[in-house]
Amino acid sequence: MATTPETTEQGSTFTGNRQKVAAHLTQNEPLLFEKSSPGKRGYRLPPLDVPEADAAKLLGDAARTEAPELPELSEIEIIRHFTRLSTWNYAIDLGMYPLGSCTMKYNPRVNEFVSRLEGIAEAHPYQPESLSQGALQVLHTLEKALIEITGMDTITLQPAAGAHGEFTGILLTRAYHESKGNPRRKVLIPDSAHGTNPATAAVCGYQVENLRSNQHGMVDIDQLAKQVDDQTAALMLTNPSTIGVFEAEIHKIADVLHSKGALLYMDGANMNALCGKTRPGDFGVDVMHLNLHKTFSTPHGGGGPGSGPVACKKILEPFLPTPVVRENADGTLRLDYDRPHSVGRVRMFYGNFGMFVRALAYILANGPDGLRQTTEDAVLNANYIRKKLEGYYELPYKTPSMHEVVFSDKKQQARGIKTGDIAKRLIDYGFHPYTVSFPLIVPGALMIEPTESESKEELDLFIDAMQQIAREVEENPLLVLQAPHATRVKRMDETAAARKPILRWKGAPSREPLTVDTAAKEW
Ligand SMILES: *Cc1c(COP(=O)(O)O)cnc(C)c1O
Repeated sequence: MATTPETTEQGSTFTGNRQKVAAHLTQNEPLLFEKSSPGKRGYRLPPLDVPEADAAKLLGDAARTEAPELPELSEIEIIRHFTRLSTWNYAIDLGMYPLGSCTMKYNPRVNEFVSRLEGIAEAHPYQPESLSQGALQVLHTLEKALIEITGMDTITLQPAAGAHGEFTGILLTRAYHESKGNPRRKVLIPDSAHGTNPATAAVCGYQVENLRSNQHGMVDIDQLAKQVDDQTAALMLTNPSTIGVFEAEIHKIADVLHSKGALLYMDGANMNALCGKTRPGDFGVDVMHLNLHKTFSTPHGGGGPGSGPVACKKILEPFLPTPVVRENADGTLRLDYDRPHSVGRVRMFYGNFGMFVRALAYILANGPDGLRQTTEDAVLNANYIRKKLEGYYELPYKTPSMHEVVFSDKKQQARGIKTGDIAKRLIDYGFHPYTVSFPLIVPGALMIEPTESESKEELDLFIDAMQQIAREVEENPLLVLQAPHATRVKRMDETAAARKPILRWKGAPSREPLTVDTAAKEW
C-alpha cells in the first residue's frame, strides 16, 4: 500500500510516543511496577471432577468468605515482571561488590552443583542414621577441616549466622563459668569490634564494657590489664578488627585474660584474612565463630541462608549444643544426644546443611595451598587499592591492612561531600558501594573489601572510578552531591525505607490501563 502523508505522520508520532513511553517506563518505576488489572489470570485450575466441599463446614470460622486480594496478571507479565526486576538488581555475578566486612566473594558454580545433587538436596533430616551416613560424613569432614583451619579442638555447625554463632559462643562461655560456680558479670569489647558483639553479650545477660583502642587501632594491653578482673567472663575480639587490622599482640591479650580466668572470644567472621596463614587456636583463642557465608564462599545477602559454626577448646566441649556427630568403633557415624551439660539446641536439626555442602566443596576444591593463596590474594587486593587511593582519600590508621582497607571522607568533607555521597556516585560508575560510615571508630568511613575474587583489571576500574570521584569532588561537587544519576530511582528516603518498609504487595489505587498515548501524556 502506498504511504500517504497522513500515515507517515501517524507513524512518526507513534515512534515518538514509543520512545517517550520507553523513557517514561524507565523513569517511573511505580507505574512500571504495578501491572495488575482485574480478571487476568496466569493459571486456571481444571474443572472440578469431585463434588465441591462446603468450606464453612470443613473450616468453620477460618473459611474465607471473600477472595484474597492478589495481583491479577497473565503468565508472561509475571515472568517479565520478575525478570525485569532481576536486571535492575546488582549482584556479585555482575561486578565487584566491595562491601567491607561482608566479604562478597564469588561463589564457584561447582559448589552449587554439588549442593543440588539429588542424594544431598533431598536427604531428609529424619532419615535413620544408617541411611544418612553420607550426610553425616559431610558434617564430619567439614568439622575436621574447620578444626584444622582454626587450630581449635572441637566445633558445632548448628548456628545459622555469624551473630548466632556469637550467641552460641557466649552461651558456652557462660555455661563454662557457671560450672565453676560463677557466670561472672561483664564482657569486654573493644571499640573497633563488629556491632553484633556488644549486642550478643547483652542478650546473653552480660554487662558490656567498652575497651578503647590505641592509636594503631589495636587493643591497648595496659588498659586491658586494668579492666580485666574476676567478674570478666570474656573479651570479644574481632580479629582482624573492623578496620582490617590484625591484633599483633593477641597472644599477650590471651595471657592477660587467662591470668584472671577470663576467656578470649574471637569474632572470626574475617577469617578470610587468616585462613591458611595462622590459627586462632595457636594464639590463645578459646572460642570463636566462623562465617561460612563469607570466608567459605557460599551465597549470602538478602536475608540468608547463613552459617556460623563455633569452634572451641576442650574446656568448652561439654557445653556444645546437641547433637554432635561422633564416630562409632566400626567407623560409621552417629548423632550423639547424650550430653548432660549441653547448652541445648540452638537450631533445628543440624544447621543449614546446604551451606555445609557448599563450604566443604569450596575447601576441598581449593585444598590447603589454594586456601592460603586465597588469603594472600584477598590481602594483596586490599593493599593494592590502599596504595592507589592513599593520595585521594584520608587513611586514618596507618597500621598495615589485611583483607580490607578503611578510608575516611575527611578530605572530601572540606568540600561538603560525605562518604554516602561518594558511595552514591560510585553506583553511576557501575559498582556496588563500599560499606558506608562503618566502623564507627572511623568518622565518615569508607570501608572497602575487594576479596580475592577480583582480577587486576576489575580492581583498576574500581580504582579509576574512585580517583575520578575524588577529582569530581574538587571540580564539581554538585555532581557527586546529586548522584546517582544513572539509576531508575535517585536518592531514596533511607530512614523511611528502614523504619516503614513496605514488604508486601498491597495493590495500587485503580487507574486506567496504560496506553502509548496516556503514558506519553503522563510523562
Ligand atoms: C558479618 C559479621 C558478623 C555477623 O555475621 P552475620 O552472619 O551477619 O550475623 C559478625 N562479625 C563480623 C566481624 C562480621 O564481619
